[in-house]
Amino acid sequence: MHHFDYRDGRLYAEDVDVTALADAVGAPFYVYSEATLRRHMQVFQKAFAGADPLVAFSVKANSNLAVLKILASEGAGADVVSGGELQRALKAGIAPEKIVFSGVGKTRDEMKAALDAGIYQFNVESAPELDALNTLALSLNKRAPVALRVNPDVAAGGHDKISTGRKEDKFGVAWEEARGLYAQARDMKGIDVTGVDLHIGSQIADLAPFEAAFSKTAGLISDLRADGCTIERLDVGGGLGIPYGNTAAPPHPDAYAALIKKLTAPLDVRLIFEPGRMIAGNAGILVTRVVFVKEGVARKFLIVDAAMNDLIRPALYDAHHDIIPVIKNEDAAQTTYDVVGPVCESSDFFAKQRAMPEMKPGDLAAIMSAGAYGAVQASQYNTRPLIPEVLVSGERYAVIRRRPSFEEMIALEDTPDWL
Ligand SMILES: *Cc1c(COP(=O)(O)O)cnc(C)c1O
Repeated sequence: MHHFDYRDGRLYAEDVDVTALADAVGAPFYVYSEATLRRHMQVFQKAFAGADPLVAFSVKANSNLAVLKILASEGAGADVVSGGELQRALKAGIAPEKIVFSGVGKTRDEMKAALDAGIYQFNVESAPELDALNTLALSLNKRAPVALRVNPDVAAGGHDKISTGRKEDKFGVAWEEARGLYAQARDMKGIDVTGVDLHIGSQIADLAPFEAAFSKTAGLISDLRADGCTIERLDVGGGLGIPYGNTAAPPHPDAYAALIKKLTAPLDVRLIFEPGRMIAGNAGILVTRVVFVKEGVARKFLIVDAAMNDLIRPALYDAHHDIIPVIKNEDAAQTTYDVVGPVCESSDFFAKQRAMPEMKPGDLAAIMSAGAYGAVQASQYNTRPLIPEVLVSGERYAVIRRRPSFEEMIALEDTPDWL
């Protein structure tokens, strides 16, 4: 459910006409819907009402400060994976006791910043990381609250590149080693063992992998408690998929909630969630303008002004995004396009052999479901400026990240004096 709909054949973002927005801001740009972001947070929280979980939004999905501020006002915490994301979460007003820190390669500086801030939990992914965190915490006279991220060896996720819970993935502590490492953590003076953490993948389309992983975890938790570890929290990660338009809809958050409640009720733990895509994915679109229509020998190309540097998901994960005209033309014939950007890479495409209405140069198209893993993964490849992010709220809009000027784009570069 989102707030991007046609009114009399014109696409609106809430009550804002997307064509008027394009005239004001200049294509290409992202648009986020505040009402959709709030709604998704509320659906999630309602599904777990009464359980008092920590819903820690996965900041890497969409880290714009305005977006974080909206989610914070709905009670969200943050799951961060870098020192920069930690600073963003704090700047957006998210309390440290609602922040968890994940990731396989936390540096000492990042750990120190998080210890100084007093975050809720470190999700530790390896023995050397645990050692480093213990040593650092001792030197600061602190104790770091820790959950070990365990790897349940379950295959899950919509693509090889977003599956994280298999043996061969770089994430987490191997299942066979978890108990031993917990015993070490229990005896470390700089570590406070607080719970268990998992995150098995992303864009997960059915409940079976969650069920497999969380059932296994129940057994682990009783073993750990028998070993004298304090396990008060269970962080179940993120990963619930969203409909992108090409496949059957993933389970509703209510079904996901029912399963998790059923599996975790006997465990007596506080639940932590790290949803990213589920909150932000369908709350954003990417608006782009057609530059040329090129009739190739074998294919017809719709060449648009956005590119893989603005939205890399199709190139990186073969991701599907629905692409729709911003102004509907009922008379337009159906055709088949490869929708591509101007970047000099064959992987610069948004859709291949896509059936859609004919479009012409100057027309605007909306690439749907681009609110998660979109703007955050953008680069300035081909010296293309980062594109604006716009927030709409009812009839209002605001540019929440503007397009940099050429001078700003090159401001960090220097030419040595011998040149
Ligand atoms: C990416 C990530 C998430 C969010 O995943 P979604 O599929 O967007 O819900 C949560 N936790 C961790 C540790 C992650 O790396």
